[in-house]
This record gives sequence, structure tokens and C-alpha cells, in this order.
Amino acid sequence: MRIDVLGVEFDPVTMDEAVDRGMALIRTPGVHTVVTPNPEIVMLCREDPELTQAVRGADLVLPDGIGVVYAARILRRPLPGKVPGADFAEGIMARLARQGGSVYLLGAKPGIAETAADKLALKYPGLRVVGTQDGYFTDSRPVVERINAVSPDFLLVCLGAPKQEKWMRENADRLSVRLMAGLGGSLDVYAGAIPRAPKLWRRLNLEWLYRLLKQPSRIGRMIKLPRFIFAALRQRRREKQGKIEGEEPKI
Ligand code: UDP
Repeated sequence: MRIDVLGVEFDPVTMDEAVDRGMALIRTPGVHTVVTPNPEIVMLCREDPELTQAVRGADLVLPDGIGVVYAARILRRPLPGKVPGADFAEGIMARLARQGGSVYLLGAKPGIAETAADKLALKYPGLRVVGTQDGYFTDSRPVVERINAVSPDFLLVCLGAPKQEKWMRENADRLSVRLMAGLGGSLDVYAGAIPRAPKLWRRLNLEWLYRLLKQPSRIGRMIKLPRFIFAALRQRRREKQGKIEGEEPKI
């Protein structure tokens, strides 16, 4: 059963379970979608029904970042832990490499996907990177055609939120891929264009702080994080008082 965090339902899975589920989806005929909402995306969903539909329709909804895990804890329906999208995708690529599977890298500024492709091919021998495309195209049709020409096992969609979630929903019926995931700035990380937080920072759940220090322009976006936690606290109070919709207040 999924865990509701402020209107977005997350799959309560560990990283290993998420990768197992992703690999099972790759083995299953059809096009499957993974989304990785962070607090910012949860807040965006509250004012964007189209994004909410795209997130709800996904086969796997993973909590990207510790903020979502804290909110779930506040709401007394804990998640096993964070499952950052960039790590999930690496888990899938490591497994695909063992079986000669293929990936297509879509998104980020021109040149980034190619650099990411070179680095990933070195890191995961056996992995076939069958195509790259930057994320600043205007017409999706030729992009879909190029992807379909190589039918990758796994398509990494790194267009930022909410563009990537909407793009996946709009194009799912036309795409010939087994699994696709919306992964924000992951290609920048794989390419080394944005440094990944050192392990200790990640273990202490301070990856967000590290990113903020490296990209101070993110402050405008991060301001949403306290609002997200307050929203969770308000929701918890409402639920505790039995004032959630359809429920009579308990006296
Ligand atoms: N991006 C893109 N096309 C666009 C807008 C953004 O390919 O039209 C890329 C951008 O270059 C960056 C990624 O999407 O690589 C978004 O990264 P961000 O750090 O915002 O995502 P996060 O990891 O925070 O979700």
C-alpha cells in the first residue's frame, strides 16, 4: 500500500527493493514510469493537477530526499528511507550492465548527456548507452523517433520538474522503452558538472545543504522546504483532531 504524504502517494520501499521493482518492470512488456518527488515536487503537485495526475499514474513513486521521509514520520506513516533518483538510476544501470542492457540519456544542457554517457560507460562496463539528447528541444516528435529507433531498456528523463513528469505522461503511449524515470539534475551529477555531496554529508542527510552551498541560486526553491514541513505538521494536527474530510470530529 502506498503512503500518502500531502497528497502524493509514495511506494514504501528501500533502495534495494526499488531497484528490484525497477528491474521487474523492465522485464514486463509495456512502458513503465518512475517518478522521484522531492518536497518541492510535492508542493508543486498541490497547485498543479496535471502534475498530480502524472505522478499518480507512475508505476513507482520514490521519495527523493530526506524531507519527504521526515514529513512521512511527522504524519505517523513512516517510509523506510529516502531513495534518491540519481542513486536509483545508478542501481538500475549497474544491474543492466551485467546483462548488456541499454540506456538512453535525455536532458540537461547540450554536451552534458554525452559527458555523462562517457563516464557511465566507464563506470559500468557492459552498459550500452545507445543515445543522448539535450533537454532544450521544442518538438518532441523527432526526439521520440530517435529514442524508438534504438528502443532502450531504460530512458533517463532529466528535464527538471514538472516538465519531465508531464513529458513522460504525454509521450508514454508513443515511446518504445521498457522503463523511464524522471531524474531532475542527475545527468549533471553523472557528468561531474555538479559535484555530488561527499559520502559523510549524504549519510548525515545534508545533501540539500551541500547543493545549496554549491548552487546558492537554489535558495528561492529551498524556501519551499520549511513550508512543506509546516504543511505536514498542520496535516498531522488536522488528522489528530479527526478533522480530515469525511470524518466526524472525535469528542
Ligand atoms: N533541463 C532541461 N530542459 C529544460 C529545463 C531544464 O533539460 O527545459 C535540465 C537542466 O539543464 C538540469 C535539469 O533539467 O539538468 C534540472 O535540474 P534541477 O537541478 O532543477 O533538478 P533537481 O535535481 O533539483 O530535480
